[in-house]
Amino acid sequence: MSDHKFTTHTFHLNNGCAIPAIGLGTWQSKENATREAVKYALQNGYRHVDTALNYGNEQEVGEGIRASGVPREQIWVTSKLDNHWHHRVREGLEKSLENLGLEYIDLFLIHFPCSTDPEDRSKHLPDWNFVDTWREMQKLLDTGKVRTIGVSNFQMSHLETLLNDPSCKVVPAVNQIELHPHNPSPKLLEYCKSKGIHCTAYSCLGGNTASPINAHTDLIDDPTVLKISKAKAKAPAQILVMWGLQRGTSMIPKSVTPDRISSNFLMDGWCLSNGDILALDGIQTRAKVVGDAWMPIRVFLGDDI
Ligand code: NDP
Repeated sequence: MSDHKFTTHTFHLNNGCAIPAIGLGTWQSKENATREAVKYALQNGYRHVDTALNYGNEQEVGEGIRASGVPREQIWVTSKLDNHWHHRVREGLEKSLENLGLEYIDLFLIHFPCSTDPEDRSKHLPDWNFVDTWREMQKLLDTGKVRTIGVSNFQMSHLETLLNDPSCKVVPAVNQIELHPHNPSPKLLEYCKSKGIHCTAYSCLGGNTASPINAHTDLIDDPTVLKISKAKAKAPAQILVMWGLQRGTSMIPKSVTPDRISSNFLMDGWCLSNGDILALDGIQTRAKVVGDAWMPIRVFLGDDI
């Protein structure tokens, strides 16, 4: 595997599409910084960008794409349906397309299995849930405006409910979930694999340390990560990205810093040994970046440890 080129590698999805293994995360990238980060990343080899209506930066992502000069058809763009758009799926998609200034999105995800009331986001919609949302998501495939549909933050029980419902004709191609050595979720990963669902790892570096609104883990300073980083003369972030790639998950590290965007993409011609992977898999610390206290229902049910 040491001669493997992850920068051009793609993971095959259950609908025949191929998602680039490494993408740029954009959550909490500050105003103006998103546009520049997307442009820089694309001009330096990235072909996959992750955004969401909820991030409020789709417009800048679109601007960054156009400024990069990279042809649209060479770029994989993921966006997500926000919780208070669940009963307006088609409108939610149109909103994202309008913000991005794009004709289509490569991957459109239900951001969370939680359908909130747009009039009062502290309330769950009484007569609607993620199964209803998925029924509407499936219809998007006929519009030509999305290539792939998937979910995010779905736990095993959500997926069981969804896959067992008669209205579910399309198995989600992707489940985008928090995955890193402090939240490795091997059972959920294995479950998704058994159902043909590819997983994308978010907060794969342990989250945004500068964020005022969410937690971050101390993953980047974890002693095991640092030890392997030193032994291999690679940055801790590179060790974390490679760990996820070798697990078969696509990785979307976020950065607005050019050097880091470049460094997080230096994933060709080296790999972690089995011993390194065993050591990272053996880390016992457990911590999560994204919680669900801000939503009207519990989403993280503790079945993903
Ligand atoms: P990450 O785990 O990607 O960490 C981002 C932080 O790491 C930033 O503070 C960044 O700083 C820093 N960083 C980046 N590269 C390096 C490096 N080489 N060395 C040291 N520090 C570095 O956090 P996110 O939570 O943002 O997750 C990544 C992406 O996943 C998001 O941006 C979003 O696109 C997606 N996501 C999806 C969620 C979902 O619900 N589906 C939830 C959370 C995230 P700086 O930018 O200043 O360089």
